[in-house]
Amino acid sequence: MILRWKLERTASRHDRQEASGGASKQADDAKAAASAVTVSAIAASYDDQIRPLLDAVDRLRHLKVTQEGIQLPTIVVVGDQSSGKSSVLESLAGISLPRGQGICTRVPLVMRLQDDPSADAPKLQLEYSNGVVVATTEAKVADAINTATAQIAGSGKGISDAPITLVVRKKGVPELTLVDLPGITRVPVQGQPEDIYDQVSNIIKQYIAPKESIILNVLSATVDFPTCESIRMSQQVDRTGERTLAVVTKADKAPEGLLEKVTMDDVNIGLGYVCVRNRVGDETYDQARVEEERLFKYHPLLSKIDKSMVGIPVLAQRLMQIQASIIAKCLPDIVKQINDRLSRSSAELDQMPQDPNNVADAVRVFFRIVKQVCASTEKVLVRGEFDEYPDNRDFHGTARVAEMLAEYAKKLPAQCPRSANELFLMEEVRILEETKGINLPNFLPRSAFLVMLKKKVETIDQVPQELANGVWAYVEDLVMKILMKYSDNFPQVQSSCRRAVQGLMDKARARSAQHVKELIEMELVADYTANPDYMKTWTEFMDGYDKFMEAVEVASKPARITLQGFGEVDVSHLRVHADLAGKAFDLRARLTAYWKSVVLRLMDGLALHVLLSVKRLVEKIWRRSWGTKCWAISSPGWRGC
Ligand code: GDP
Ligand code: MG
Repeated sequence: MILRWKLERTASRHDRQEASGGASKQADDAKAAASAVTVSAIAASYDDQIRPLLDAVDRLRHLKVTQEGIQLPTIVVVGDQSSGKSSVLESLAGISLPRGQGICTRVPLVMRLQDDPSADAPKLQLEYSNGVVVATTEAKVADAINTATAQIAGSGKGISDAPITLVVRKKGVPELTLVDLPGITRVPVQGQPEDIYDQVSNIIKQYIAPKESIILNVLSATVDFPTCESIRMSQQVDRTGERTLAVVTKADKAPEGLLEKVTMDDVNIGLGYVCVRNRVGDETYDQARVEEERLFKYHPLLSKIDKSMVGIPVLAQRLMQIQASIIAKCLPDIVKQINDRLSRSSAELDQMPQDPNNVADAVRVFFRIVKQVCASTEKVLVRGEFDEYPDNRDFHGTARVAEMLAEYAKKLPAQCPRSANELFLMEEVRILEETKGINLPNFLPRSAFLVMLKKKVETIDQVPQELANGVWAYVEDLVMKILMKYSDNFPQVQSSCRRAVQGLMDKARARSAQHVKELIEMELVADYTANPDYMKTWTEFMDGYDKFMEAVEVASKPARITLQGFGEVDVSHLRVHADLAGKAFDLRARLTAYWKSVVLRLMDGLALHVLLSVKRLVEKIWRRSWGTKCWAISSPGWRGC
């Protein structure tokens, strides 16, 4: 914990000062003691409040939530090759990482630093490749990382985006999780893949693009910042620099102009600069910190840089602050995203096929499906409730059936059908000639009426059948869709249910065919109606009878006349059939008046039949299921029964 770390350093400085003696130092001691209490209180509160959050984020990282598209607050270390990224991480952790010329970091390294006051020696652990956990030591960590890297990205110079996690439990390290990424290299060195630049920049972009990432841009003091590839790259995803912090390494190597570089801020670093000096050569980490402190305190140029912008301890503190604030900012949203994902996954899980593994389960599943299918079918086909499928017109059963009935009504001719170019009443005359009997001349033979009626009904007897076929095709399709929807999780019962429903459909269709046939036959068995409209219409037609007869019988009268109900007609051809013309007129008047009743019966009768049949079907699916269940669950589809 860096605050504690600072505190210890302050205390040791005081020890040294005390050794040099002096009464005035006593006041300083008192002040230091007071500040020590404050600092340790802050440190304790940091431990209490931030550490659980960091642990939570680490657990989420372990659970690979990023693969689910949930971004975690992460500090990502980027920098050009050899800018000093690994050295900065080493300085923060106080341990050695693989260092050297060329590209050493070939896979992302997630470094989790955990302050462990009880640890005498640092405890290190590597985790990679889905669950490989290797305990290691400070001396061997570099080799262990190299071995893990070779396993992930091969032993050559290739790179990979699969990360290695290094957990460092050590006394006094700052509580931080950072990700070290491969360095950006423009020109491939020998053995490196040709597209190394694209590969590295893809990995870097993948890590720095999410707005939850803080970019720790490592810049060497020896280079011109605007020429840095890592600056160019971080500016692509964070133009204003609001989530970019710069660490300037190698301050010892290029102190000239460093103050200007970090105060001018040519490259838009929103979170500011921290200049550091990492370990050089064989120094220990403690020596390196002492040298760093001395460098920024006494160097003629570097000492001018504000103390809030120099040193690894300052960097550690800044990073902890930033980390705490991004975690606090992102966590509520992460919780929400996880809950969303969870409920979506639970819903998906419910959709997964389930495997009833005993007969009781199977029967329960079967009845549940049938019950749901019946309820849903009844809603859409009988009650006209579409709340389950508000946007799918195919499922709006009552509306679609009503449409079919309306279409059917249009196809049934309101007027008795006639062939277009037939002379007025000649069809009737011919039939009367053929049904002549030995009887009084003023009787209209009933057989003539029935023959005529049969001829007319036969012209439309396909129409009701077509309606019945159309309705059943639609209903079958709809019921099957509903069945598939509710039995989707249970492929074992699907085929059984399908067969059961299919059987019911076939029966319903056959019953309808029979009903339609009977409807037509009924029309032919007798000429009957209690509808008063028949007599009314016939009387209206017969009002023109005398006028008609006069035109037929009196040759001097005009042959073209206008008759009520028939419009303008020519009767000249009937003058040679004057004996039958009156009966023909009567026959036409009766049939035309009666036709309305025929059409009405075919319409209403079939519509009600369709509605009743659909309603019965729904009831039957349920009743039938009791009989069906026995063979449904004993069919081979039922695994485990
Ligand atoms: P990386 O490729 O970005 O990970 O860079 P490294 O951390 O491997 O550092 C590259 C070289 O720069 C190494 O030889 C380091 O010792 C050296 N180096 C890093 N930081 C400093 C520093 O602050 N001062 C000096 N003098 N050398 C440094
Ligand atoms: Mg490195």
